[in-house]
Amino acid sequence: MAVQPIRLFGDPVLTTPAEIVTTFDKELRVLVKDLTDTMIDAPGVGLAAPQIGVGLRVFTYDVDDTVGHLINPVIGVVSDEEQDGDEGCLSFPGLAFPTKRKQRVVASGFTMHGDPITIEGSALLARCIQHEVDHLDGILFIDRMSPEQRKLAMKAIREAEWSGLSEPVVKISPHATRGLAV
Ligand SMILES: [Zn+2]
Repeated sequence: MAVQPIRLFGDPVLTTPAEIVTTFDKELRVLVKDLTDTMIDAPGVGLAAPQIGVGLRVFTYDVDDTVGHLINPVIGVVSDEEQDGDEGCLSFPGLAFPTKRKQRVVASGFTMHGDPITIEGSALLARCIQHEVDHLDGILFIDRMSPEQRKLAMKAIREAEWSGLSEPVVKISPHATRGLAV
């Protein structure tokens, strides 16, 4: 088990588009394992590689007792039907906001062994796939909200206890800064 620290909103890796995976090697399999372990430990229903600081197009999911992963995912078919409901993100701990998503999607990509695979998802799995593929494009769920909802979300984010923790901290004294117990 190799649980990795999860990057928080404000970390530039979360707004940087991830690179396509071209080498299906042991390093990639370790990345999938780290993502899976970190997601289950959190716990979360999905986790994208940039959230643990790796800029590759890989995500894992854990929905309805099915744990899986997808490399270089591409969303093909989407339903016209939309779903509404609260959505959270492990990079925004403790917060959830109403976020519109498509009700059903079909995503194709590869397994960590390089085999082509297609995932069909509706409801929560569809929401998860859309959320994670967005992560790989450097898009966060706050970017999918209506302007009014985004305003409310940004206020809650500013007030969250973790807010600003991902900014580089320049230590000017041996004492803990920003109320952090180090
Ligand atoms: Zn997320």
